[in-house]
Amino acid sequence: MAGEPQADCLFCKIIAKEIPATVVRESETTLAFRDINPQAPTHVLVIPKVHHPDAASLAAAEPQIAADVLREAGEIAFEEGVAESGYRIVFNTGSGAGQTVFHAHAHVLGGRGLNWPPG
Ligand code: AMP
Ligand code: ZN
Repeated sequence: MAGEPQADCLFCKIIAKEIPATVVRESETTLAFRDINPQAPTHVLVIPKVHHPDAASLAAAEPQIAADVLREAGEIAFEEGVAESGYRIVFNTGSGAGQTVFHAHAHVLGGRGLNWPPG
C-alpha cells in the first residue's frame, strides 16, 4: 500500500535503523541525514518517514508531509550555515535524471558555488 515501508528500500531501512546513517534532524514525519557520497560541503538528504517513490508522488498522496520535507530542508540550511550564502534543494526524479533510490528525498546542497543550470 502507498506509504507503507518497503522491504527492499534502502531509505525505509534507514528509518527502521536497520542501516546506520548520520542523522542531523528528525521530526514526527521526516528524517534528515548526511549523504554518504557528498557532492558539496553541506549535502544532507531529507526523507519522509512514509514510502513514496518520488517527490511528486509524495506531494500528490500526502501534501502536508511534502511540505514538512521542504520546511525541514530550510531548517537544515539554516543550521548548516548555508541559508545566507545560498543552497539548492534537489529532487532527482526518474533514473534518467539520476534518481537511484526510489523513496522520495530532497538533497540539500550548499557551502560551495552552485552552477546553473545543473549538469
Ligand atoms: P538519488 O541519486 O537522487 O536517488 O540520491 C540518492 C542519494 O543517496 C545519493 O546521493 C547517494 O549518495 C545517497 N546514499 C546512498 N546510500 C546511502 C546511505 N547508506 N546513507 C546515506 N546516503 C546514501
Ligand atoms: Zn522507502
